[in-house]
Amino acid sequence: MKPISVVVHGASGKMGMEVVKAVSREPGMRVVGAVDQNPAEDTLTIPGSLERVPFSSDIDQILSGTKPDVMVDFSVAAATKAAVPVAARQGLNLVIGTTGFSPADLDEMSRLAKQYKIGIVVAANFALGAVLMMHLSKIAAKYFDFAEIVELHHDQKVDFPSGTALATAKAMVKSKGKPFSMPAAEQGTVSSRGKQIDGITIHSVRLPGLVANQEVIFGMAGQTLRIKHDTINRECFMPGVILAVKEVLKRPGLTVGLEALLNLQEA
Ligand code: NAD
Repeated sequence: MKPISVVVHGASGKMGMEVVKAVSREPGMRVVGAVDQNPAEDTLTIPGSLERVPFSSDIDQILSGTKPDVMVDFSVAAATKAAVPVAARQGLNLVIGTTGFSPADLDEMSRLAKQYKIGIVVAANFALGAVLMMHLSKIAAKYFDFAEIVELHHDQKVDFPSGTALATAKAMVKSKGKPFSMPAAEQGTVSSRGKQIDGITIHSVRLPGLVANQEVIFGMAGQTLRIKHDTINRECFMPGVILAVKEVLKRPGLTVGLEALLNLQEA
């Protein structure tokens, strides 16, 4: 069978380099081109081989010259928003890991996917374990009235609480259908223990040496339940990216989040 051909947008970035490595190692897939701003050379060497593929800041040139099946994007939101219409017009499917899109941006991607009959998968978290942690937390939320989240990240992370912690807390409250309970001593006060989302306190730890970790702790009389996800390095995102590259070819329209690709039913 013909391999799935992939262009990587943001190929010089931390995630982009990891994607080039993962896709080129994956049987049945190959990297055919790369895009980033100001590349030092006009070809990119595929890690672990002597193969060189076209590399340019000119996305139109790379896409029309290589005619890939899929473009994987890990860049910055403004660059992604400019790249999506260019790729859509050429009939390419898109896997987007860049973060920072508004609901209006997603609506526009959905419109382009319909107009050009392509698939677009956008996921703010490609780590399968993190997606499962959120899913399991939504299930547990129905059975516990008390919960807290501890998220630990490297000291370069600019936002706190993390987007994943906020999304987990909101999803847990939605699944439960009502706010969680606060410890009696804190009710009606502004807590100094962390950010509160409908009764869930989120604690944010930032230290050098950490990558990304999150634990959701549920409590009720006589027992706790802990759901914990740890990442060691950026490789953790690659199984999700590879899955999305395969799945996007079968899914016309916009798919947001990995849940649908993993057949996780709404909890
Ligand atoms: P990075 O800064 O290392 O890489 C970004 C790359 O995009 C750089 O090489 C930069 O030159 C390139 N770029 C910027 N503007 C461009 C343009 N106009 N055209 C072409 N390329 C351009 O960042 P990173 O750590 O690799 O993260 C990239 C994105 O992925 C961020 O939005 C980050 O939040 C997101 N991210 C998502 C996940 C996930 O699971 N979805 C995981 C990690 C990071």
